[in-house]
Amino acid sequence: MVYPERHLLAIEGLHPPAIAQLLDLADSYVLLNRSGKTQRDLLRGKTLINLFYEDSTRTRTSFELAGKRLGADVINMSVSTSSVNKGETLLDTAATLNAMHCDLLVVRHDQSGAPNLLAQKVDAAVINAGDGTHEHPTQALLDALTIRRRRGRLEGLTIAICGDVLHSRVARSNIHLLTTMGSRVRVIAPPTLIPAQAEELGVKVFHDMRSGLAGADIVMMLRLQKERMAQSLVPSAREYFRFFGLDAEKLAYAKPDALVMHPGPMNRGVEIDSEVADDPERSLIREQVEMGVAVRMAVLDTLSRPAAEWAPNVR
Ligand code: ASP
Repeated sequence: MVYPERHLLAIEGLHPPAIAQLLDLADSYVLLNRSGKTQRDLLRGKTLINLFYEDSTRTRTSFELAGKRLGADVINMSVSTSSVNKGETLLDTAATLNAMHCDLLVVRHDQSGAPNLLAQKVDAAVINAGDGTHEHPTQALLDALTIRRRRGRLEGLTIAICGDVLHSRVARSNIHLLTTMGSRVRVIAPPTLIPAQAEELGVKVFHDMRSGLAGADIVMMLRLQKERMAQSLVPSAREYFRFFGLDAEKLAYAKPDALVMHPGPMNRGVEIDSEVADDPERSLIREQVEMGVAVRMAVLDTLSRPAAEWAPNVR
């Protein structure tokens, strides 16, 4: 085992062998899932708690499915029905969950860093399922698995990430993973939606789709995260679509066989046109969801192994 950690809190800092190991294991889970078999003895007797402080469809469901396919007891705690609604602090919730001897704790939170804090307070292995604008590591892993299975590699590919990069934890995790694995990463957005010093993350910044998409192998679209915008950063959805929304015309700027991705949820007609999103030849969006289950199985499998199997000095 080369995966170096007790938790999965971020992609930043992971070395290529650790990432490759998770992807290889996920690949084997894709085959298992497609064969219709399960491996219910692997996590038998272990408890997985999904603690979601923010809405989620794909991520929560796929962690639940992944845990169940491996035989874990899975409990979903949604904040709207828990004592968090009665004012309980994150640390008090952590102490409560700890007392229940949970083994794997999957956390989504609107505050960047919340999973890191929990990881210091609980005995469980903590998995970040998206924290504020910081990271969403399993999304980046599933995106990488989807690309690697289609293109056979990550190294040397040109990948354009387009849209609300400023607020996107998906973009941040993908940038760390893809640059670490040798892809050429571009970000395309209006200046108001690009983080300051984005180049320091190892990406090229573009403010127009024509030049940003030229020669791209993969086009990854992002949602406008209005819930994280303190002020309006784009004139209107219609105007945004005109310049930055992906339709067949703009996709033609990329390589002729370029593939389209989106982490979901999609806002059709804002950042992506249905014609492109639903094109079975070009869109990988459904496949990303399938890969999500396999990646989460690989992560749960890896983090539930005995500590003696970790290699703490790889970082
Ligand atoms: N589902 C992704 C996330 O949780 C992307 C999004 O919400 O736009 O970050």
